[in-house]
Amino acid sequence: MMKKTLIIVLTLLLIVGFARVLLTVPAVQDRVLERGTAIMAKRGAQPLAESESLRVYVCGSASPLGQGQAQACIAVITPEHFFLIDSGAGSTDNINRLGLPTEKLQGLLLTHFHSDHIAEIYEVNLGSWVRGRPQPLTIYGPQGVAELTDGINATYRQDRNYRSTHHGPYLLPPALGVLAHETIEPGIVLEDGDLKVTAYIAEHPPIHPAVGYRFDYRGRSVVISGDSNVTEETLKIADGADLLLHDALSVPTLNALMAALSAEGQTRQAKIVADVMDYHASAASLVEFSETSNVDMVAFYHLVPVPPTSLLEDVFLRGAPDNVILTEDLMWFELPIDSEEIIIHRP
Ligand SMILES: [Zn+2]
Ligand SMILES: [Zn+2]
Repeated sequence: MMKKTLIIVLTLLLIVGFARVLLTVPAVQDRVLERGTAIMAKRGAQPLAESESLRVYVCGSASPLGQGQAQACIAVITPEHFFLIDSGAGSTDNINRLGLPTEKLQGLLLTHFHSDHIAEIYEVNLGSWVRGRPQPLTIYGPQGVAELTDGINATYRQDRNYRSTHHGPYLLPPALGVLAHETIEPGIVLEDGDLKVTAYIAEHPPIHPAVGYRFDYRGRSVVISGDSNVTEETLKIADGADLLLHDALSVPTLNALMAALSAEGQTRQAKIVADVMDYHASAASLVEFSETSNVDMVAFYHLVPVPPTSLLEDVFLRGAPDNVILTEDLMWFELPIDSEEIIIHRP
């Protein structure tokens, strides 16, 4: 028996060794390259599966306190619509991995202008321009969005020129690389067919105005908070909503972190962690909200901090009922029409 096992192990090692040697041969490498690129191109050409549902994708679940996950980004897609809410660092990579059809992107809605929500605006613009978006990308946001958009347009003017000149203006029309903007007020931001988008005031001092958004589509609805505490406005906007995606902060984790930093004499870092505490919703306040409101599901995103282990996930969700969950990058929610169901797709 021992001898038989030894022979199997030695044979396997021989095969692995032989394969390694084979992969150093240029002709074999070329064949592998051909197969690999063919699979990649096929995958890239595949449209997003057709669905009647309202679909919500997590293209960024992290806050600035988090590693290995992209910063704030949510995509809302219906059969006729595609909007992004914020685009923090790392989010375009996730948008591509999810295979979202950015040539159909109709707008990027900003909740406020902290860097973890705006870092990849130009990457989103560039990616959708390259994929053939037929109109300029509009950036929606509260007061200040004009300054932000003008600044990005000026910063990347040379980049746009290089790319248009290099690939030709027929492939990359210069006018479609320039961002448009629209300053929004709380209330209905846009109505397009069966979709209605409403903005509400978020509490994220000293940032004012900061907003969150509610999407209503054929009887299904999702609210996306951006950065905010739970307030009366949250209760009003989320009334009867199916899904609330809310920024969330774990007080026990941050308290432990603060104590550890102070003990090590890292006073600057400890002060920054202390400052963060009062302008994001605590997990406990959201658990309470889930019990007092009539929202069907509360999903935490913009996690402060991203829990790196299952133990810290449990700490984050202390006392949470089943309809309160943590999100992660590439997770998505499907809300079928004429149904109460929320289907969660995990990566
Ligand atoms: Zn913020
Ligand atoms: Zn933030």
